[in-house]
Amino acid sequence: MSIQLSIRDLSKRFKTGDGVKGISLDVIKGELVTLLGPSGCGKTTVLRSIGGFLAPDSGDIQIRGSSILHLPPEKRPTAMVFQSYNLWPHMTVYENLAFGLKLRKKKKDEIRGLVQEALKLVQLESAERKLPGQLSGGQQQRVALARALLLEPEVLLLDEPFSALDAKLRMEMREELREIQRRTGMTMIFVTHDQEEALSISDRIVVMRAGEIEQLSTPQEIYDQPRTLFVAGFIGRINLIKGVSTGRSLAVGEARFEQEREVDGAVIAAVRPEDIYLTAEQEPNSLPGTIRQVMILGHYAEVSVESGEQVLKMFVPREQSARLSSGQQVRIGFSRVVSFPAPEA
Ligand code: ATP
Repeated sequence: MSIQLSIRDLSKRFKTGDGVKGISLDVIKGELVTLLGPSGCGKTTVLRSIGGFLAPDSGDIQIRGSSILHLPPEKRPTAMVFQSYNLWPHMTVYENLAFGLKLRKKKKDEIRGLVQEALKLVQLESAERKLPGQLSGGQQQRVALARALLLEPEVLLLDEPFSALDAKLRMEMREELREIQRRTGMTMIFVTHDQEEALSISDRIVVMRAGEIEQLSTPQEIYDQPRTLFVAGFIGRINLIKGVSTGRSLAVGEARFEQEREVDGAVIAAVRPEDIYLTAEQEPNSLPGTIRQVMILGHYAEVSVESGEQVLKMFVPREQSARLSSGQQVRIGFSRVVSFPAPEA
């Protein structure tokens, strides 16, 4: 496993006081790493620093062991795909793709072969002679992707590339990007504020908050083992419940739960809707509740259960949900809980 991109202690402070602080990150060759976080957390600042569109105040960025900070964007072994495609409107698709290769003094025949290959990779063989304005948003983004791939960058940078597309197309493009990455083995850094997108396409996710890295792990780990309350709340659906913890023993109301981590004092227990189950038993690790709402969502239902002073959301398989109705008394258990020290009021 060789390290393709290494970011060391990167900081950038804008006049407004915002920016990024001490970002360090190693990306392995062939990996797709996503920078994820709410608007303004610094994702684009990191991406633009790698691409050379922004000069950091301190820190270093290396590709295969050599610093690239002194290089202008066009000399860096990177290419960037933007949300807004940035295609040349008066050039055909072919010309848009051939342009960068001409600058690199490639021969005409070679250019033709490479462009055709790239169009095939993004499934746009028939669009060669069209102008960008004659293509749909998804097709234009495919052209932009092909153009970036043709530059054979050591690291491909993608800045919210699919966020202007509709939901269905966005899903298709994610699958396609993954497939292209698998076939080309290209190292990619992907920026998004969409947690579902990040979970579905990444090898690893960097969750950012206010200019710093909050957690850096695989999608599975980020989902199952959020390290902070912020990550727990930001990724996926989750119930946040007040409790009290002593070591691994967590008390929520009258119920007691075992948890993996040790925490002491007032806590916020985080439980995913799929980790709450209905139980007939008077188990010590169950809570009484009243069903407030059953919402059918296709193959499962989302059920709201009022327990004590909180309303918890749980997912229930469709067959089971048919037997549930509003006002019904139930008991609920948690199959998995992670708790965090309660933020001071
Ligand atoms: P978004 O998803 O909204 O693009 P982001 O996570 O990519 O957000 P950045 O664009 O990296 O965030 O911005 C980080 C912070 O730095 C924000 O508070 C932003 O307002 C600020 N910022 C970014 N660029 C500049 C600039 N050129 N001048 C001043 N402040 C800036």
